[in-house]
Amino acid sequence: MKKILFVTSEAHPLIKTGGLADVSGSLPKALAGLGQDVRLIIPNYNAINLPGEPRFLCSLRVDNRDVNLLETQIPDSQVNVLLVDYPHFFNRPGNPYVDEQGNSWADNADRFALFCRIAVEVAMNRAQLNWQPDIVHCNDWQSGLVPALLTLETGRPDTVFTIHNLAYQGLFLVDNILGLNLPGQLWHPAGLEFYHMLSFIKGGLVYADRITTVSPTYALEIQTAAYGYGLEGLLIHRKEDLSGILNGIDLETWNPATDPFIAKQYDVAILPDKLHNKTELQRKTGLPINESIQLFGLIGRLVEQKGIDLIIDCLPALLAMPVQFVVLGAGDKGFEERLHNLAHVYPDKMAFAKGYDEPLAHLIEAGADVFLMPSRFEPCGLNQMYSQLYGTLPIVRYTGGLADTVVDALPNTIADRTATGFVFNDASASSLLEAIKRAVLLYSDKSAWKKVQANGMKKDFSWKHSAEQYLDLYQSLWHVFPIVGGEIAYTEH
Ligand code: ADP
Repeated sequence: MKKILFVTSEAHPLIKTGGLADVSGSLPKALAGLGQDVRLIIPNYNAINLPGEPRFLCSLRVDNRDVNLLETQIPDSQVNVLLVDYPHFFNRPGNPYVDEQGNSWADNADRFALFCRIAVEVAMNRAQLNWQPDIVHCNDWQSGLVPALLTLETGRPDTVFTIHNLAYQGLFLVDNILGLNLPGQLWHPAGLEFYHMLSFIKGGLVYADRITTVSPTYALEIQTAAYGYGLEGLLIHRKEDLSGILNGIDLETWNPATDPFIAKQYDVAILPDKLHNKTELQRKTGLPINESIQLFGLIGRLVEQKGIDLIIDCLPALLAMPVQFVVLGAGDKGFEERLHNLAHVYPDKMAFAKGYDEPLAHLIEAGADVFLMPSRFEPCGLNQMYSQLYGTLPIVRYTGGLADTVVDALPNTIADRTATGFVFNDASASSLLEAIKRAVLLYSDKSAWKKVQANGMKKDFSWKHSAEQYLDLYQSLWHVFPIVGGEIAYTEH
């Protein structure tokens, strides 16, 4: 049995802004299900949703600050969660990273550096828990300093760093750094420095014993200039230690047969019941009620990564077809405004729900026929997997986890029952529109459409398979001899 400390800045259902929370809520549970001793560590945010009063564990003095460590659990699980309680940094309105206006907190470097230092204290068994992990599994830039700081310790656990999205790197101006009291050994271009800025993510990419990302295709893509954000050289240098493990999904939350948020539960044997969800979705969003019209859905952060501009460019052509379109999301103000205006111009064809709404997200997955996900890049992506299980055919661009999870509906893949959606290559509105037209055409062939729905609904996206791969990785680390002092033969410039 391995003792694993899972370091993350969000975990569903405690606190969520995106896919990282889904992974952090599910993977530890799946690892515990494989008999491992897993504990999570996460900041105690104002908005955190705790399943009861947390238990006080201890107080730690780090960097002249007194921080409390509290304990709770992931609801409906045996997984313990350590809460880093420092109200001055974490008890604020807004989300974990930004204020209510959507601006990054000015002291994010301090906030997450403190979080990392507390994780290091726990990892080194200095938090009065009488528990030292074998593995410290860090996730995204907010935990990036942990592998770096641990290299300065003797008798440290092995470290794994998972990239959920390389676009977010935790880059800070040097002015910020001085107050962080980071050890000088880490400050050089082959360490935490990235073109004279402090890069939290490099703490993981340079110093972790192993690096993973959330799909095999994204693991290859980030080693190229198009997807590497200037870190491709480092990632190529570390390619022997870098692998892709596809995320699973939480089947207790995302299962059309048991989903409490949808109007009528269904499965592949009672597919017509899916239609109740379509009419409920139309009712809720103010669209004309019509069971037979093809309904397109989209849920997500409204940012360039997600190809929202491609969709907006396609919209006049899409809405000229016999379809309806429901969008749920928030993000870039420009995209929000354009979607709002388009919904105003086409009130009978398009509805835009601005904001974050989990029940509505479930109803869209259940009620739509097609799910649009034309991402420019997508480390793994979850909604295309949810869509397949809900019999909602995804249209995706061939990138990252989308390429690894959706099989394009072509005559041969329809015939051999592997097709699950529609895949296009170029990040252009015309390529997306071609795929949309293929979806519209296939919808008119009810029997072919049903076959593709059934293929997706029967797929196994459970966490068990992914958790087994992480466990294999942890076990392969048993004999790694830790590097002390960050002496790594690599330069960036
Ligand atoms: P990312 O992590 O890049 O945002 P993913 O597809 O990996 O994208 O995960 C996004 C998760 O957040 C999914 O579970 C999705 O349903 C959810 N989500 C995103 N935007 C919204 C929203 N506006 N309302 C409800 N859920 C949302």
